[in-house]
Amino acid sequence: MSLLKVEDLKVHFPIKKGILIERTIGHVRAVDGVTLEVEPGQTYGLVGESGCGKSTLGRAILRLNEITSGHVYFDGVDLAALSTEDMRKSRQRLQMVFQDPMGSLDPRQCVEEILSEGLIAHGLAKGKVARRKMLHGVLDAVGLPSTSLTRYPHEFSGGQRQRIGIARATVLRPDLIICDEPVSALDVSIQAQVLNLLEEIQEETGVAYIVIAHDLAVVRHIADKVGVMYLGQVVEEADSDMLYAEPAHPYTRSLMSAVPVPDPDVEDRRERILLQGDLPSPANPPSGCRFHTRCPWAQDRCRTEVPLLRSYKAQSGQAAPHKVACHFAEDIASGTLEIQQDKA
Ligand code: SF4
Ligand code: MG
Repeated sequence: MSLLKVEDLKVHFPIKKGILIERTIGHVRAVDGVTLEVEPGQTYGLVGESGCGKSTLGRAILRLNEITSGHVYFDGVDLAALSTEDMRKSRQRLQMVFQDPMGSLDPRQCVEEILSEGLIAHGLAKGKVARRKMLHGVLDAVGLPSTSLTRYPHEFSGGQRQRIGIARATVLRPDLIICDEPVSALDVSIQAQVLNLLEEIQEETGVAYIVIAHDLAVVRHIADKVGVMYLGQVVEEADSDMLYAEPAHPYTRSLMSAVPVPDPDVEDRRERILLQGDLPSPANPPSGCRFHTRCPWAQDRCRTEVPLLRSYKAQSGQAAPHKVACHFAEDIASGTLEIQQDKA
């Protein structure tokens, strides 16, 4: 059984107008019908441009955002239907690591207080001695000295603060940690260290992750399975290797073509796929395929008919599950359908 099963999840935020008499004039459809599954011990990478709904989805899974409709089954229990109190109890098993370690750590609390809070709230490690022992263990696991306990967040570097954030999440021994842009605020030299740390913790504890990132390189490094989001929806999903080897959705192709090749001596012969226009407003998404206003392969059918997330028949004949929401993914891959713009 999967650890997490998100089913047709929607998070719509009302757009209000009026100061004295407030009325709703529309909705921002931040997350608009997302279905995905995460297995125990798996890392699910969620990628897409900022504003595509990744963070909102992550927060909605933890019920930090109000769910408009749909289900979030965690170990078979629908979190969307839990009372606030039952949800609070479930949070021990579902933790979050945030992008900005400074903003997510209380500057007035020393590290011992930060790390103890969850343990106390969930009635774990009763008594100061037992708790200290756990804290020393978790600090050791994230590579910080035990003398860190009496220090405050501002005394640490950005990378160290993110280690504290990870320690805070892992000390509760959760089954799933949602990491929202865990390394995007860090120097490139520190990013790999933090990603390696997440992997080590996973090997040791079997925790599953959802790693949210706009940077495809980050997700490639760490994810087993990847979902690509565009305007509140998952438009492609596959095993990480598969997705990077054979991206099927035009949006994924464009994201990939923008990633620089790692070796500067290797000639980059990939086709650059340039997107037209800006990301449309999630309050008023385009008809048919939401990507049609920017897709270089768009046809008439794309403007009227919504493409469902369906099985993709990869060119290589790979049988691994690969899903795409595009009417023409196979025709694009085989070259039957040509790009409708000047190649840059
Ligand atoms: Fe492009 Fe049409 Fe595929 Fe949408 S359905 S991604 S517009 S080709
Ligand atoms: Mg975000």
